[in-house]
Amino acid sequence: MTAAADVPPGSLASFVSTYMEKEAEQLMTEAMSKNFIDYEEYPQTAEIHSRCARMIGSLFHAPKDTSIGTSTVGSSEAIMLAVLAMKRRWKLRREADGKPADRPNIIMSSAVQVCWEKAARYFEIEEKYVDCTRARFVIDPTQAVALCDENTIGIVAILGTTYTGSYEDVKAISDLLVKQGSGVPIHVDAASGGFVAPFVRPELEWDFRVERVVSINTSGHKYGLVYPGVGWVVWRSSEYLPSDLVFNINYLGADQTSFTLNFSKGASQVIGQYYQLIRLGKAGYRDIMRNLTQTADYLTNALREIGFVILSETSGRGLPLVAFRFPGKDEGEPEDADFDEFALALYLRARGWVVPAYTMAPETDKMKMMRIVVREDFSRSRCDLLIKDIKLCCHHLEQDSQQFIKRMEEHASEHSVAKRKTKDPLNNPRHEHKRVKHSLQGKTGKSHAVC
Ligand SMILES: *Cc1c(COP(=O)(O)O)cnc(C)c1O
Repeated sequence: MTAAADVPPGSLASFVSTYMEKEAEQLMTEAMSKNFIDYEEYPQTAEIHSRCARMIGSLFHAPKDTSIGTSTVGSSEAIMLAVLAMKRRWKLRREADGKPADRPNIIMSSAVQVCWEKAARYFEIEEKYVDCTRARFVIDPTQAVALCDENTIGIVAILGTTYTGSYEDVKAISDLLVKQGSGVPIHVDAASGGFVAPFVRPELEWDFRVERVVSINTSGHKYGLVYPGVGWVVWRSSEYLPSDLVFNINYLGADQTSFTLNFSKGASQVIGQYYQLIRLGKAGYRDIMRNLTQTADYLTNALREIGFVILSETSGRGLPLVAFRFPGKDEGEPEDADFDEFALALYLRARGWVVPAYTMAPETDKMKMMRIVVREDFSRSRCDLLIKDIKLCCHHLEQDSQQFIKRMEEHASEHSVAKRKTKDPLNNPRHEHKRVKHSLQGKTGKSHAVC
């Protein structure tokens, strides 16, 4: 029996933290009863909150005197707020110029996380996509800038895409905008990369050092190393956060400002974030993020040796994850292999590993790939066990007949979570939600599905 069987390896699919120190857990448990928004009752929580926001702002080189930041439930809420701010600012300017302000659009790569589709849909903003290709998994800055028009509220750049962890070239987009004298702002979605790049690649200019970046979000519960859910959003200055979106209230006793989608929420996560920032410090985060990057590089080399095609970056040029696939037609292999990445995901699942297989963003001819996210609790020795199991599963896949693999896949699909309809209220047979066709997933098959 391997140690992988002793210790459930858990999911290698998610970016979200699954480990914190006992002391942090205890502190967060003690704060469980506190309502974050009640500044009068819990003034220390409010103070801790502004300290976190300042530290994270400074990590992103936000101008000390003018920048403004707040916590959210995660990057999704942070992104909703940033989108609202960009939209409102665009609208006010259009109205001041006596021009119509009823057709806002936003430019982003097709590798965006689903929350961007939600933000655009919820707030009625036209989505303009720069498609990825089989060879480019990030936005093309020239194409992005070329899509801009008078109705563009902003361009999104992702610091660490969900698919391959690649960093989009924020500076190139900004330089092009500056060169063209365009006033379009950039928002950086640093959900995962916000706590990685500053430590692993401090010289990489992606944050407020870049001229046209007006706002940045990050997930405290990803590489910020806090349990879900906490996120952060920072604006370069209050100029980019129109004041009519910020509310002043005093019904909890103190005068306070509020710019969030939700009002009440637990205080534990913000307190957990403060614990991590203070406990680890920059040196601690640097050690952890460099270590994760080294583990990802080690895994990359091992998978390349087995014969996989590597789609992610190495040496900290992207997130600490490994995205890979079997060699296929691009490498001159026959197209009708007996098994694919979904079959390998299934075989690994039987060994206790959750490694998702999914199809890439649109216009990549439904390229299949797999992704292993290296988190703090994924040690080098577990990495070695995983490599061994991947080799073993590949060996079995080569031995097993096509019919057998197909039967296993059918069996797995019959028993998948998605089929247990009662678990998901929106996935009820009485509803139509499962078959929506408006999303990138519905239109193109883009997915993050596990088998
Ligand atoms: C995870 C992620 C999000 C959504 O973040 P949550 O904190 O889960 O709401 C948005 N964008 C990117 C690039 C992500 O990786």
